[in-house]
Amino acid sequence: MIILKIILKKLANKDEQVMDDKNSILNELRIIGQLFSTYILCEKDNSLVLIDQHAAHERILFDEFFKNYKESEIISQILLEPIVLEINYSDKKIIFDNIDFFRRLGYQVEEFGHNTIILREVPMIFGVPSAKGFFIEILENIDEDVQHNYDIKTNRIIEIACKKAIKAHDKLVDIEIKSLLSQLKELENPFTCPHGRPIIIDISKKEIEKKFMRT
Ligand code: ZN
Ligand code: ZN
Repeated sequence: MIILKIILKKLANKDEQVMDDKNSILNELRIIGQLFSTYILCEKDNSLVLIDQHAAHERILFDEFFKNYKESEIISQILLEPIVLEINYSDKKIIFDNIDFFRRLGYQVEEFGHNTIILREVPMIFGVPSAKGFFIEILENIDEDVQHNYDIKTNRIIEIACKKAIKAHDKLVDIEIKSLLSQLKELENPFTCPHGRPIIIDISKKEIEKKFMRT
């Protein structure tokens, strides 16, 4: 059973109007239920709205990570057994030149002898400690220009979000559907998942009527 976090974050007042307009399709939806254990069906004005539950949750998790990163609120986990990494001189220099960046991502790095470092804390990304592999990937992709490191390995984060998100064929209870929709509504882009797939589609009453030859 999947328990979605029910977070009703307060929107900043200044953004409220903009978001309301843009995400208006998600306002005042009447939830009909789940279809194929994969889509959330809703009624809105004169449309049937279908939401892909996996794509929606993936977008929510992905955006949450970047929001926490921006606000330096990534949660770390202290390792009982620190990770010892052998690295060469130039990588070591990169790490310590960018130590604040790694700190912000949730890594606590310490020097340990000549060409060795220790990771004492690692970030918890969506509840999963992502340790060595992620650290090395970031190190390999780090930009010379620290300002651009903001653009961290998004592909990897998409992958983690994808794995952690609820799946197609997962049965959701009402409260989970409601939570998912309320979180989705607050996003800047609730329309596509980080891979670019659509999250929401709508079918108009007209299209349905046409099928029934009611026109
Ligand atoms: Zn996915
Ligand atoms: Zn996706």
